[in-house]
Amino acid sequence: MRKNGRTLFEDLKYITRGMREFEIFLPGQLKLLFIYSAITMAIPYIGIYMTSVVINELSLQQRTSVLVVSVAAAILLTLILTIVAAFINKRISVGYNQLFPAHEIRLNEKANAMKFSLSEDEKIRELRDEVSGSINCSGAGMGSLYWDCETIFKALFSAVISIVLLALNIGINGITFEFSGTLFGVVNSVWGYLVLIVIIFISAAVSSKMTSKIFDVSFDVFKNGAKYNRYANYYKLEYLSDDKSAQDVRLYSQKNLIIDEVLNKCYIPFAKGDKREKDASSKNNGIMLLLSALTGGYVYILVGVKAMNGSIGIGNVLLIYSAVTMLIKALTDFAMTFTDLRNNNEHLIRYFNYISLEEEFSTKITSDDYKYAELRIDNVFFKYPGSKNYALKNVSLAIANGQKIAIVGANGSGKTTLVKLICGLYDVTEGTIKINDTIVSSQNRNKYEKWVTAVFQDFSLLALSVGNNISASNEYDELKVWDSIEKVGLKEKVEKYPKKLEQSLFKDYDDEGVELSGGEAQKIAIARGIYRDASLFILDEPTAALDPYAEYEIFTKMNEISQDKTTIFISHRLYSCKFCDKVIVMDDGEIVQVGTHDELVNVTGKYSEMWNAQAQHYVKK
Ligand code: ADP
Repeated sequence: MRKNGRTLFEDLKYITRGMREFEIFLPGQLKLLFIYSAITMAIPYIGIYMTSVVINELSLQQRTSVLVVSVAAAILLTLILTIVAAFINKRISVGYNQLFPAHEIRLNEKANAMKFSLSEDEKIRELRDEVSGSINCSGAGMGSLYWDCETIFKALFSAVISIVLLALNIGINGITFEFSGTLFGVVNSVWGYLVLIVIIFISAAVSSKMTSKIFDVSFDVFKNGAKYNRYANYYKLEYLSDDKSAQDVRLYSQKNLIIDEVLNKCYIPFAKGDKREKDASSKNNGIMLLLSALTGGYVYILVGVKAMNGSIGIGNVLLIYSAVTMLIKALTDFAMTFTDLRNNNEHLIRYFNYISLEEEFSTKITSDDYKYAELRIDNVFFKYPGSKNYALKNVSLAIANGQKIAIVGANGSGKTTLVKLICGLYDVTEGTIKINDTIVSSQNRNKYEKWVTAVFQDFSLLALSVGNNISASNEYDELKVWDSIEKVGLKEKVEKYPKKLEQSLFKDYDDEGVELSGGEAQKIAIARGIYRDASLFILDEPTAALDPYAEYEIFTKMNEISQDKTTIFISHRLYSCKFCDKVIVMDDGEIVQVGTHDELVNVTGKYSEMWNAQAQHYVKK
């Protein structure tokens, strides 16, 4: 039987895969849940069984010893099981509290490990929003699987216990195959049981159908909900939490625009979806109540008639009534929950799609720690994922160990793309890039990671201490951090911080944290690159946020900063090219000129054009 285009077998495979997934982020939890369900479902049956034994005994032989022993045994067993259940429940609650954070950590780990090009992909970001939204907004996906497992386990145990009790006490004496016209006659015949079975199946089928209907509505609401959340998070967490936008909100009176956007695109449609969900589930609750009243009534009649004709003892009336109603509840719970699980696979599939995304490289770094880097780029072509145009076309370049190279060119000419490929953040579309004969690719990063460090213009710093930021680690070599800070000209400033290297950056978690200017932050980012001490040092517009003095200071210290490392330097200030051994000029994704500053400045071409355009600003009129 297909559901949502999947066979029962396929659905079962997703459900079991999800259950195995719990072993990764909540180990042992499902096993505990299984044991807990068995115990909690057994407890009410002890009471029911004991009551029936007592009533039977009172109505027949009235032996005190039997009464005392059965009551004491039931109390003792209930007590032991309740204590064990409470103990397990405590552990389950602790584990359950970890469900949401552990789920989020699992997704974050995946986000960190996946190929960089995927992390930039809009569709993957949407998928992540949906997976997080599944559990956080509607408790679906791994959340529903968890709760449904508990209900399924309980339903299974309850069904098994009630079937065993019924098999032992159903009271088939006096049952006939004859069909007399009276209600009493029907109920007292085999037909009475058949009607009961039909009622049970109808209840289960109706419940399962209702569950499906509710799911369809809530899944529809959920799909749109992920979009609403993105809007809400964009304004709440990104735009309004950012100092720069807070400034623009005031200067350009954006308040009403934002309120209207959030209301119309997020809260109003969200509230409408919420109402649809509530309407669907209250209709379902009404129908379920009616069904349970009808089945309950029928079971009373069935058991009552059997007691009247003497096929069951007075004490067994309660036992059988309870066993039948609990069996009905177990079967309808099972049917509803199983339907819910099959529907929930829509969410689980998204979760599996996300956690199965291709990863970049194994975290174990295997590159040798040697101080040598030569680079060879051969006929590289590159298109960004999803883009039709080539950002790089037939780029070839060789850089010897220790050489200092400048890459220049207009905005959009492909400079940053080229260095991102050298770092292995994207895979080339055609051609090869090699560092020390090791092919650069996102799958191979562990082999060359230690050799390369890059400082990009759009870097981010953590709200941690100066030392943690520069070393990117909890423990750091203080002398090496001070040396890196000195090279970028920040030593005096950091020496004045009360906690020096332990001073927190930003005030997010520490009231005494220091706020940095754009230029200071950029210097910290460069110091972070210096600290890594890799043999290939890439600086992409590292001085863009610096004032002319600081920029000059960095340029003059360039040799000291890059020492004997192979260095690639991207800068719009062509003045910096004077310090480099070779200048590569890029235009529209291609290398159009290669030479030293002195060679290129005197020949007609892109470089001299750019140089002359900049020089005008410096020549006195
Ligand atoms: P430069 O660093 O020289 O300013 P880039 O390498 O950043 O140039 O960009 C080269 C080309 O690639 C541009 O046309 C730009 O629009 C495009 N591009 C850059 N980043 C992306 C991206 N993430 N996705 C799609 N296209 C991009």
